[in-house]
Amino acid sequence: MGFSKLKIPKICEFCEKPFEAKTVTTRFCSKYCSEKEGKRQKRIAKDLEEKQSLLEKSVKKIAEIQTRPYISVSEAVVLFGISKDTIRRLIKNGKIPAHNFGERLTRVSKLDLELMFTSVELPPKKEEKSKPNFEVGNCYTITEISEKFHADPGTVNNVIRRNKIPTKKVGSFVYVPKDEIDKIFANR
Ligand SMILES: [Zn+2]
Repeated sequence: MGFSKLKIPKICEFCEKPFEAKTVTTRFCSKYCSEKEGKRQKRIAKDLEEKQSLLEKSVKKIAEIQTRPYISVSEAVVLFGISKDTIRRLIKNGKIPAHNFGERLTRVSKLDLELMFTSVELPPKKEEKSKPNFEVGNCYTITEISEKFHADPGTVNNVIRRNKIPTKKVGSFVYVPKDEIDKIFANR
């Protein structure tokens, strides 16, 4: 008795038609479908790669625009996510100062736009995040923060959540790194 007699009903992963497979690992009804699927996978991978490189390019572009005090209208579109029409209207109404250096060479002050709009946020750099220090001497409990900074525990919890401060729960205590808390409450 050989495996050739074994017939397993399956659905082809490419054409989605039922077929009888000779082994449990067979995924396609024919060589044709198998090859087609291989090509499809390659195309998907290529698309993904292109999207990724486009994203990287736009991150680089945004970082570059952010270093300049004057930017073009289309750069303002990228940086602030607002339409060209909006920017042109603001210029026309004198809401933002603009310099016209010629056809298609209008430059607007980035600072003026920043005062009106929030710029697109770049993904944070990875190295900025250091590991939180949860050693007992370096931590406050919520009660301790509350007492030290005269804030009720609800406020303290809100501040922690809003600032995404890491916490560690041990039993019924929540430990919070001292340096993170001191930094925030010092500025209040
Ligand atoms: Zn097929």
